[in-house]
Formats: sequence, structure tokens, C-alpha cells
Amino acid sequence: MRDGVTGDPYFPDRGDRRYSVSHYDLVLSYDVHSNQLRGKASLMVEARTELRDLRLDLVGFRVSKVTVDGDAVRFSVTSQHLVVRPRTRIAAGGSVRVVVTYAGKPLPVPDGDDACGWEELDDGVLVAGQTNGAPSWFPCNDRPDDKATYRFELVVANAYHVVANGVCTSRWRSAGATTWVYEQREPMPTYLATVQIGRYVVLPVDGASVPMSAVLPKALLGRYGSAFGRQPEMLDFYARLFGPYPFAAYTVVITEDELEIPLEAQGMSTFGSNFLTSDWEHVRLVAHELSHQWFGNAVTAASWSDIWLHEGFACYCEWLWSEESGGRSADAHARSHWTKLAAKKQDLLLGDPGPDLMFDDRVYKRGALLLHALRLTIGDERFFGLLRTWIDRNCFGSVTTAMFEALAAEIHGQRLDGLFDAWLRETRLPELPASVAEPSS
Ligand SMILES: [Zn+2]
Repeated sequence: MRDGVTGDPYFPDRGDRRYSVSHYDLVLSYDVHSNQLRGKASLMVEARTELRDLRLDLVGFRVSKVTVDGDAVRFSVTSQHLVVRPRTRIAAGGSVRVVVTYAGKPLPVPDGDDACGWEELDDGVLVAGQTNGAPSWFPCNDRPDDKATYRFELVVANAYHVVANGVCTSRWRSAGATTWVYEQREPMPTYLATVQIGRYVVLPVDGASVPMSAVLPKALLGRYGSAFGRQPEMLDFYARLFGPYPFAAYTVVITEDELEIPLEAQGMSTFGSNFLTSDWEHVRLVAHELSHQWFGNAVTAASWSDIWLHEGFACYCEWLWSEESGGRSADAHARSHWTKLAAKKQDLLLGDPGPDLMFDDRVYKRGALLLHALRLTIGDERFFGLLRTWIDRNCFGSVTTAMFEALAAEIHGQRLDGLFDAWLRETRLPELPASVAEPSS
């Protein structure tokens, strides 16, 4: 590999650190029955260093044309990449518009034992980009720390409803197909970009402080309230704790297909029809995905090795909602999960779990336990002040574990190295501090 072309340490084949993309404009037309996608992607590219070529991530498409600032240029396509060769070097600090015309049958890309990205449903599509699925549908600089704004223009047969990130700014219908335009104005990493296509109806959800809706098959309307009935309260609860909801709207897509796990995207989450029950195991995931809008989406780990900054926090948010909604207290959840975790193999390093274990359940639970230990150590006022400041200072930006540790020390007034080292950099499970006694009435 050439010098400088390295992405995230967990996915060194993805992303190119020599440039960043400030805006993606994706004009796509898609045929659901034949799974044929035709695309024209326009990227505003900013060079961080002088560039003789630039490597975009793109998997499984024929590329028919590439232009740089309007001039057709040479390019080569490999199984994972599109390498663009501008006619003249791009100076460090310079910016160019790269337009890629491409077509093919999108498929999920392998991700460990799993696959992610563009995925056909029984009658529609979902895109679950985490972690490296974005190149399954558009050419991109697929790094979690390269955030950009987006415009999506999608042409799909009239029978289908189409959702993408951001706000639907226009929609027009012609004889056979409808064009949907969505704009995502808050910066977003590639993995959170999504499109959802299905025979859906839109259910506006009243009672939330931001526009909230559900997009689902008509037949599922009657079951929506079982898992999602308290979502407006949930959103307001998190907004009180962490600061205003970061995006323009929140949409939940429920697919007719059953899904193994729900999926977060910016301003959106997707659930399978199997999650429509009032079981705590499902409601906790409604809370989990919503909380990712603050922890993961507005404030995003710069590197996948810091994934606990997303999953540990979202897991702790489940426990906070449990307590708020009249269920078990966060402390009770923490103690019961500590006991379960203590019985498991202790070979996971929370601060750097490695690509194979980054979504291991122990990352979620140990991350949440770290937060509970921190809360018990610095007290509720400082702990929740820390979370609010974390979001406020880093909203729409990229973060590291070191930044969180520094902010915790700043707010606490002294460093907390012992606590963070024990939870993040050693595999043995630390003891939880004693619970704070409930004030006697
Ligand atoms: Zn999660």
C-alpha cells in the first residue's frame, strides 16, 4: 500500500487520510425487482496533502465515467476501490469536485462473519452501513472521522416509499416513478448514511418536541405502540439529560421482514417487525437506538477502536430509561450485569477490543458499567454535567477516549486515571463502587 493511504486501524483497506469529503450529492435510480442501481455521485473533495491520485471506496459496480472539475479523467476499478487520476496534481489545501457515474447490482459487503450495507428485503431495501457498508452503494471516503453533508435524489417506482437521512425537501411523481430528495445538513460519517425502500405508510407521532414519525407497512400500524408508545417521552428525557435532540427529525422505519438486530442511522433507526412487542428486551433497544443520536451520531468516535463511546453509552441509556420509566434502577441493572460479566471470560480490552470483538456484548455492558462507576465516583451532578458538556462541545464532531477522560478530569477537578485505566486498559473486571444510599424519607 502506498504511503499515507491508510484508513482506520481496524479497517486499513478503507478510507484515505490524504483527503476529506465535505459534501456528497447522490443521484440514484433503483429498480426493486431487478436490484439494479444507477448512480451519479458528486463529491466535494478537499486535499490534505498534494494528490496525484485519490482512492475512493466502492464495491461491486461498473464505473463508466469520472470527472474532476468537469474534465473526464483516467481511473481504475479494483474489487474494493476506485482510483481516480486527475490530469494535474491537486495541491494541498485545494478542493475539487469529483463526479462518478456508476451502475450495478448492489450487494452487502463482508464484515467479519457478517455483511453490511445495501441489502434487499422481501419487497424493498434497507441499508445498514455500520461498519464498512457505505461502499456497497456509493463511492466514498469510508472513514468514521470524515463527516460530510449529503443530498440524496432517489428515483424509485411509485409503489414504494423512500426514506433517506435528513429532511425530504421535494418529491415529484411521474408516470412510473417518484423522485425523492432528502438533504442531510448536519455532518454525517459515511456509515450512518442510509436509504430505506418499502411499501410503507407514514405515521406521524404526536407528543414529541421534535418531528417524529414511523415508516412501516400498513398492516403493522396497530402494533406500533407496543414497543414505541413511549418514544416521545424517551426523547424528551434524553434531551433533558444530554441537551437538545441534535437533528431535524427522528424517524423509525419498521420493516415487514424480521431483523436480527435494530440498526441506527443519522436521524433514523430501523427495526424488524419482530421488535413490535412491549417486552423490555425490545423496549430497551428502542431506547438504545434513540440514544445513539447523541452518542455515536452527533458525537462520533474518530476511530472504531473507541466504539465503547457509542455502545457503552447507548447501553447505559437503556438503564437510565428503565429507571425513568418505572422499571429497575440503573444501579440494579449495573449490579446484575456486573455479576453476569464477572462470570464471563475476561479477555476483552474495552479501550481497544479489536475488529473481531468491537460489537461483542461485553463492550456494551462493560462500557455502561464504566459509566456507572464514574457516576458513583464523581456524583450525579458532575456526571450528568459531563455528559451534557461532552455533547455540547463535540456536537457534529469526532471524538476520542482521551478527550472523554480529559473532560471528565476537567469537570471533576482531578484526573481519574486509575478508574479509566482499570476499566479500559486492563481485562480484569474492576469492582463497582458502593451504591449511593437512597436518602431516607
Ligand atoms: Zn448500539
